[in-house]
Amino acid sequence: MTDRIYYTEPSCRSFQGTVTRIGEHNGRPTVVLDRTAFYPTSGGQPFDTGRLGTVSVIETLDEDEEIVHVVDTPMSVGVVVPGEIDWTRRFDHMQQHTGQHVLSAAFDRLFDNRTTSFHMGTEASTIDLAREVAQSDLERAVEEANRVIWEDREVSIRFVSADEAARLPLRKEPVRGGTLRLIEIKAKNNSRAIVYPRQIAMYLAKHMTEASLPEIGRQFGGKHHTTVLHSVEKIEETRKQDKDLNRLLNKLTEQLGG
Ligand SMILES: [Zn+2]
Repeated sequence: MTDRIYYTEPSCRSFQGTVTRIGEHNGRPTVVLDRTAFYPTSGGQPFDTGRLGTVSVIETLDEDEEIVHVVDTPMSVGVVVPGEIDWTRRFDHMQQHTGQHVLSAAFDRLFDNRTTSFHMGTEASTIDLAREVAQSDLERAVEEANRVIWEDREVSIRFVSADEAARLPLRKEPVRGGTLRLIEIKAKNNSRAIVYPRQIAMYLAKHMTEASLPEIGRQFGGKHHTTVLHSVEKIEETRKQDKDLNRLLNKLTEQLGG
């Protein structure tokens, strides 16, 4: 069984592995390692190419529990090799694949139009939709997808059981049981990691400057003055109960106030 490094570390481009098995595929030598960052063809994303030491990896296959590297030169079992992925190729695949999901989600959200298939090519990638689309709707979906991309949202990996997955609003029904790996494209504005620091910053702006609520709202990217007021009140309340926050605010006020 190959340890799939890309599964948990998708940005890993170089690694070390030991050859555990050798073989042949369509007349070319193959190599199985104990661990690999090479992504095999699956789920619509093409395979990785690259190098294992001085040997070129021409193709990567997913064979049951193992990842099989098709190489240009035979290797020996037991050899430890540095692996290096052709990152230009892989990063392009990652961008296209994620982009496809963002675009598909836009069609789904705006027009309830599902993506039935996806093809990734070297020159162009295409998606097939369940229904015909008017030119104006097409433009709206492109705009919506670009809006999401410009938000620079966090893309994260989450592991869930089949039971948990059944309770989630997934884009696609999972085809297998066991632990599932989900890719989540997080909505930016309601993440606490963003909202809480922003509330603190608004609170400090209110207390340390002469700026009015609408002025602060404008400074924070066009927020309504009631949002600013709510944030100020929220932090006011929280600091009464949260000693750490209170200490932090005292320190910040002192340092910023000079
Ligand atoms: Zn996908």
